[in-house]
Amino acid sequence: MTTELLFRDDAYLKTATARVLAVSEHGIELDRTVFYPQGGGQAGDTGTLLRGNGERIVVADTRKGDGADRVRHHIATGSPLPEPGEALALELDWERRYRLMRLHTALHLLSCVIEAPVTGGNIVPDKARLDFDIELGLLNAARIESETNALIAAGAATESVWISDAELDAQPELVKTMSVQPPRGAGRVRLLRIPGIDLQPCGGTHVANIAEIGPIRVLKVRSEGKHNKRVEIALTDSG
Ligand SMILES: [Zn+2]
Repeated sequence: MTTELLFRDDAYLKTATARVLAVSEHGIELDRTVFYPQGGGQAGDTGTLLRGNGERIVVADTRKGDGADRVRHHIATGSPLPEPGEALALELDWERRYRLMRLHTALHLLSCVIEAPVTGGNIVPDKARLDFDIELGLLNAARIESETNALIAAGAATESVWISDAELDAQPELVKTMSVQPPRGAGRVRLLRIPGIDLQPCGGTHVANIAEIGPIRVLKVRSEGKHNKRVEIALTDSG
């Protein structure tokens, strides 16, 4: 029992219809979904599932289930529960997801502006961070901000590229983020390519053109440990 991951082919899909596969205390599983489950440092999606009778089921979070391509929609306390087999209309909290997409794509640029191994990362709607294995003194917030914003201002279309597990194993240098395993499944791995800038395995959701990110600002540069020097960023139009 797997869920078709509609966001993987079209990150801009805001609505869809789906059928309920299972309902449990762990959440609702659907045959297809536009909701991204928390992973790769990116927060899980929120939104609503609309029943045929007009009732709204509130999705408070989305997580991966047991096994590949299984997704659990976590329902807010007090929300009605659907029946297995029931058809639902899915509605993503698009404003929140789009901020996550812009911040997530900005982190790809940050990982190129700062040339050091990435040791961690996190993306929530109002800010995002990457940790690097680098000397703190080599991180200059003003330079990082201006170089990242120059890339964003120039713009570039992003694209998904699929390669086989064997091809990835033959090119270990593609894996920059040591704390996140590449999104493998069915013998193939998805890469995100930003032509001339970045190419790395990633299963997250990205904007179609990096110009959509808009200017970012560096909120903080600080040490979180010997191998974790943290750079935190925000979008300039989201508070
Ligand atoms: Zn990504």
